[in-house]
Amino acid sequence: VLPSADSTNGSDRAPPDMAAMQAKFASIQQKYTEEASKRFRSDGLAQYVDLQDAKDARIHSLGKDPWVDHAVLNAKTPAVKDGGRYKFVILGGGYGGLIAAVKLIEAGLVNGPDDLRIIEAGGGYGGTWYWNRYPGLHCDVESYIYMPLLEETGYVPKQKYATGLELREHAERIATKWDLHDKALFRSEVTDCRWSDEEEVWNVAVTENRGPEEGERKLNIQANYFFVLSGVLTIPHVPKVPGLENLGGSMFHTSRWDYGTTGGSQEDQNLTGLEGKRVGIIGTGATAIQVVPKLAKFAKEVYVFQRTPSSVSWRGQKETDLEEWQIANKKGWQRERRYNWVTYLNNCAPPEQVNMVGCGWTEAPAYCAIIGSPNFGIIEPTPEKIGEHVGGLLMLDLPRAEKARARIDEIVKDPETAKALKPWYPVWCKRPTFSDEYLQAFNLPHVHLVDTDGKGIDSATSTGLVVQGKEYPLDILVLSTGYRSPAYGGLNPAKRTGINVFGRGGKSFDDKWDAQGASTLHGVISHGFPNLFFGPTAQFGQSPNNTETLDIAAEHMTHFIKKAEEKVGGLAVIDPTVEAEEGWAMEAVKRAANLAALSVCTPGYTTSEGEFNKPNQDPAEMMKSARMGIWSEGILSFMKVLEEYRAGDLVGVDVTPRK
Ligand code: FAD
Ligand code: NDP
Repeated sequence: VLPSADSTNGSDRAPPDMAAMQAKFASIQQKYTEEASKRFRSDGLAQYVDLQDAKDARIHSLGKDPWVDHAVLNAKTPAVKDGGRYKFVILGGGYGGLIAAVKLIEAGLVNGPDDLRIIEAGGGYGGTWYWNRYPGLHCDVESYIYMPLLEETGYVPKQKYATGLELREHAERIATKWDLHDKALFRSEVTDCRWSDEEEVWNVAVTENRGPEEGERKLNIQANYFFVLSGVLTIPHVPKVPGLENLGGSMFHTSRWDYGTTGGSQEDQNLTGLEGKRVGIIGTGATAIQVVPKLAKFAKEVYVFQRTPSSVSWRGQKETDLEEWQIANKKGWQRERRYNWVTYLNNCAPPEQVNMVGCGWTEAPAYCAIIGSPNFGIIEPTPEKIGEHVGGLLMLDLPRAEKARARIDEIVKDPETAKALKPWYPVWCKRPTFSDEYLQAFNLPHVHLVDTDGKGIDSATSTGLVVQGKEYPLDILVLSTGYRSPAYGGLNPAKRTGINVFGRGGKSFDDKWDAQGASTLHGVISHGFPNLFFGPTAQFGQSPNNTETLDIAAEHMTHFIKKAEEKVGGLAVIDPTVEAEEGWAMEAVKRAANLAALSVCTPGYTTSEGEFNKPNQDPAEMMKSARMGIWSEGILSFMKVLEEYRAGDLVGVDVTPRK
């Protein structure tokens, strides 16, 4: 029995008055449209600069790794030799890379000492949880279903929502259990990978940064199978605010928290360095929701610069009750709990089912607009059917949206502030957030909401930020402004990662994707790029529990390799056929209309900052957009499709023994 829903989950509240909702529907839709219209910008994604690409030295330096310990790493024998050949090379040491490594090991595919290497840009394992150490960081999906491999490690999370520290330590735990510490080359970036038609291997170019004393080391290594698991929210960016580079005082991005300035550490969150300071924070996304209460606790004044409010539901954090936690005798409990949870988000939970997790997510059935649901089937791409579909979803979301707005009035005492904090868009447009502290912080006299009415910051001076002609003097600025959109480059995994990938005959992955749009078999392999496996976005099943999708993807990738090696009796060359890939792309195209609800969204990373909402009359471009579709019947249906496929004989994949 795992901890289940408790009375804080809001399920005991009165059911919504649907007649009243119907009456409000039209005016709320109008408000949604008005608010979204304020926010569309012609520069879309170009309004941001990725820290790694910033020309200004100060902005560029905000992207540096604050955590890496060069002295410790330099003292170790490097895990990867220049010219070395490895069976599996995984780009990315986050949960995605770790899960894939574990699946390969557990499948018996990793045997020799040179069979597996992981190349990671950061100075340690953890990915998101390595880079992000800001105060207040927790997972937003329950830790019992978010933290990977709990069953296999036997680890019991301390709380319903684990802290960033616990999440990072769990990455280390996984690395220890599966003996991955000497398999990783940290502070090393893959820049380029090329398939050799002659040798049938990937040639991977890596740059290792050995710190100020030793400088860079360039390596070329070879991989029989190459995995690109670089994550989706990895490249921090900031808006191009005029004058930002000249702002006086300290400034840092949340993904590179500067404890030197704020005081405290990830372990000790007493931010004593903020005492007496005027602190500004740009952004009110999921990160800021967690950070603001911590700033409020220590700073003299806090200015929260808001362009679009987040939807903030109740959180319900609690300690794990070890009495309740009797899981050891039930194999498969984590998957069962994950599946139970996702049925609420897919709006297909059977009425008699016990809601095991009972969190704010499970009150958001309309989230199925972007992760699918078995309820809809395949939506016909006609204006009537699309209108019906999107209208139905908006209506489905309305009780949640109204409740979230009412909650603000209940909590925030100043009516003007409460009004400005209200989100006017449906749940699927931006990641919903959960906090029992964020809205409450605005009742403190030193916490000020600076609402920019959808326009953002005007400029920065040497002493502060300017909004609508007024300057707000600051000592410290926190940039909680997010990451390069996961949809960057039309969901192309190579572009998202920022690497050049060249397949058979030297063909560029970018050229292929640019010309024909997303082209994959099951979202993880692509024709002409043999033995290349990538983290899925397009043409895959979706869940807001990212480790669930990473787990499913890793299982499927492992299957391809295991089965192929069994077929050929050794190292294999695995390449999906054009026909299979096009057949799979057409499955996405068929389901494109199921994602039509994105058209009503206020801009954000989900819509590539509004670029998906642009009317597009060019049929070729429309087809490319349609190919970015997902498995719209939901992740559980998608898993069945994969399972059925795996029962067969690698249909649609050319498998040959490596020369
Ligand atoms: P990452 O964790 O991003 O790891 C990818 C790694 O690849 C990075 O460490 C990066 O340094 C490395 N890399 C990238 N390019 C290169 C290169 N060229 N060479 C070498 N290395 C490279 N999801 C949830 O489901 N629930 C949550 O609660 C949640 N909270 C989040 C909180 C924050 C602050 C952020 C930013 C994201 C959150 N996410 C959450 C999404 C989160 O990213 C995923 O859950 C998950 O951790 C992703 O794992 P990953 O391994 O795919 O990617
Ligand atoms: P987001 O992209 O969600 O938020 C960036 C914020 O910066 C937005 O509020 C955005 O406003 C604002 N912004 C951008 N440009 C300007 C500008 N010129 N002026 C004023 N404001 C501006 O990034 P986050 O880091 O908050 O979150 C990214 C994702 O990471 C989340 O969606 C979630 O998936 C994950 N995450 C999960 C967490 C968890 O709870 N475990 C915690 C943190 C992150 P606008 O909305 O108008 O664009």
